[in-house]
Amino acid sequence: MTAIVWIRRSLREHDNTALVEASKEHEKVIPFYCVDENYFENSTLGHPRVKFWHDSLKELRDNLGDEKGKELIVRKGKPVEELQKLIKETDADAVYHNRDYTPYSRERDQKVQEELEIPVETFKDIVMFEKEEILTNSGTPYKVYTYYSKKWFKNEKKRPQEVKEYKTPELESDEIPSLKELGYEKPEDMEVWEGGRENGLERIEDFKDKIWNYDENRDYAWKDATSKLSPHLKFGTVSIREVFWEAERIKARNPNDDTSGIKTWQEELAWRDFYIQVLWNWPETTEKPFLEQYEEIEWRSKEEAEEDWEAWINGETGVPFVDAGMRQLKKTGWMHNRLRMVVTSFACKDLWLDWKDVHEYFNKMFIDAEIASMVGGIQWAYSIGTDAQPYFRVFNPFTQGEDYDPDGKYIRKWVPELEDVPDEHIHKPHEMNQIEQENCGVKIGEDYPEPIIDHDEERKKAVERFEDKKD
Ligand SMILES: Cc1cc2nc3c(=O)[nH]c(=O)nc-3n(C[C@H](O)[C@H](O)[C@H](O)COP(=O)(O)OP(=O)(O)OC[C@H]3O[C@@H](n4cnc5c(N)ncnc54)[C@H](O)[C@@H]3O)c2cc1C
Repeated sequence: MTAIVWIRRSLREHDNTALVEASKEHEKVIPFYCVDENYFENSTLGHPRVKFWHDSLKELRDNLGDEKGKELIVRKGKPVEELQKLIKETDADAVYHNRDYTPYSRERDQKVQEELEIPVETFKDIVMFEKEEILTNSGTPYKVYTYYSKKWFKNEKKRPQEVKEYKTPELESDEIPSLKELGYEKPEDMEVWEGGRENGLERIEDFKDKIWNYDENRDYAWKDATSKLSPHLKFGTVSIREVFWEAERIKARNPNDDTSGIKTWQEELAWRDFYIQVLWNWPETTEKPFLEQYEEIEWRSKEEAEEDWEAWINGETGVPFVDAGMRQLKKTGWMHNRLRMVVTSFACKDLWLDWKDVHEYFNKMFIDAEIASMVGGIQWAYSIGTDAQPYFRVFNPFTQGEDYDPDGKYIRKWVPELEDVPDEHIHKPHEMNQIEQENCGVKIGEDYPEPIIDHDEERKKAVERFEDKKD
């Protein structure tokens, strides 16, 4: 009895549900990865994400190869065709894979179900609760997080599982194409995170001390107080069950301590599940607002608003906190959550940029691009999503900086031309007079731009536009 385990975004052996289940039923198991080269040709992904995926895939191949009798079989081509060839070569009885919930994956997986002639078994793996597992008392999917999360915490959760012994038959395996072959060499001047499970486990270790004060510190980007596990959860180098139960273990070992930091962190895992179930139940939200009344809003496309768009993506808006966030993204492929909210709110309520252009840009740039959380986050900030920020609550990007980066540490790191600006002007350097500018060596308008917007004016206009459409 031979099973093929088609690995996609769960790039690990430990607690990989499809692999665990296949190893229970089959002595011969073929962990299989299909590199779809057309995917790389036809998309414009940022280097950080491709590198993270590449590191993780290579590490998985090497780790399995180091274990006697196991191997990751890699093939280049189209998933359906490569699976069909492999089934023929090995006389496999079944294909196992973990479920994914994006519109693209659903279509791909449907095709595989229809075209393969052997059973295809699918498993929940990337979330704690999926699809319609958590419903309102009247049996409909949740649109509001607070009530959803109560059930999420109450429901029984699976624990991580080990795979049973298995052997991989001897088979030809293709080389994993290099980043150069895929056209994704490292651009100059980027700081790129390394992928792979080992790295993910180190992140978990490193976060164990920070988790206690997560609730107090998480909003301050300069404190580096969050787990930075998002790309690991995206590529499945660590599992959702592993990280949830690790947090529970920390709590259990210190029963008398205040565990609110741990609870707040687990809430974020629930947010991730929440948005994934929203995307599953309302897949059309990748294309249109969750709130129908805002479908007809006329946003400014990046072509129409070219100058503002360029200033926003390059971190040259003259609003230091926004610029710091956008530059962190450009340089590393990652951005702190507070900044994701602030820069997106700025794109909407100050620049009136089309949310779909913002989505396309984030999707290209984010190392942790998770469509559900991304669409959820963007539509939240744009006030057009489920459980979104009300349209009349508009972030002031200057005071957001004052509140969450009071000494300008984060700004100075990512906008180095403002390094010597005194604390009292770091959030509004354009308010410095000539002498103050000379004293700190920054000429506003030359070394760093004037703000491209008048926030009070843009806020008023944005609220009016929303009010026009709200019913
Ligand atoms: C506009 C916008 C776009 C976003 N796009 C993405 C995205 O593409 N991919 C992504 O993983 N997250 C996204 N988020 C959510 C959040 O910003 C990131 O998950 C978080 O910053 C990752 O850092 P961390 O791993 O240190 O998180 P931690 O604070 O340590 O949280 C732990 C984990 O919980 C999950 N999580 C945390 N916050 C959220 C949230 N608000 N919604 C859903 N899941 C969450 C992530 O998997 C994260 O790794 C977005 C948020 C906004 C506002």
